[in-house]
Amino acid sequence: MNVSSDQTTLSHDVLSAIVHDVPRNRLLAALPRDALERILPTLTHVPLPLGMTVYEPGVPITQVYFVLTGIISMVSEMREGTVEVGTVGCDGMTGLPIVLAADTMPSRAFVQVPGEALRMEAADLLRAMDASPRLRRLLYRYVLALFDQTAQHAACNRLHGLEERCARWLLMTHDRVVGDVLLLKQQFLAEMLGVHRPAVTLAAGALQKAGIIRYSRGKVTVLDRAALENASCECYRIVTRRVEELLTED
Ligand SMILES: [Zn+2]
Repeated sequence: MNVSSDQTTLSHDVLSAIVHDVPRNRLLAALPRDALERILPTLTHVPLPLGMTVYEPGVPITQVYFVLTGIISMVSEMREGTVEVGTVGCDGMTGLPIVLAADTMPSRAFVQVPGEALRMEAADLLRAMDASPRLRRLLYRYVLALFDQTAQHAACNRLHGLEERCARWLLMTHDRVVGDVLLLKQQFLAEMLGVHRPAVTLAAGALQKAGIIRYSRGKVTVLDRAALENASCECYRIVTRRVEELLTED
């Protein structure tokens, strides 16, 4: 891929490494070459260490992250406890308020599963969106995918049982990690599902008894992926189908 020298002061090696990373992020991979070439010099490869705070509620967002590996989780923190409201993996980016002409969000974002990302200054993203209708269109469609996912999860939390929701959450996490082992403390899983820990013990116990997962000391191993999909409510399929539909360019 050619990037004209006046666009960047990055060394050729650094740029080559970033070009190599691009296909690992679904949004970047979906961009046409000209749009991608324009933003390549503004991307920086960064690690996502476990627990790193990405955004604090109400604090202006200055950088966005295109995730390559790992998971960034958005949580709502209230007096009664913490509950997950969204996740971003290699299928997306963080910092959506920037796309929608705002710069803060009410939830906290942190690294739930460690990995790597391509980071971009918010100002560079805005410039790139102005210059590229294709990038703008893709990011708008991504925002809609996340909006629809959040709406589905709100309905799911109200209507579906904990065991089904637990299976859905494990499937979404399994999709975004390499291999079948998910490093998860029980307390964390409880927070992500917005329930108390004993309830999670029961739900995970039922999945384990059915031979679908093995759960021990902060580690969940997915033993039977097909059975886990059967154990999940319909929400997993609805959300993944919708993302597919929106991010596959016509
Ligand atoms: Zn559901």
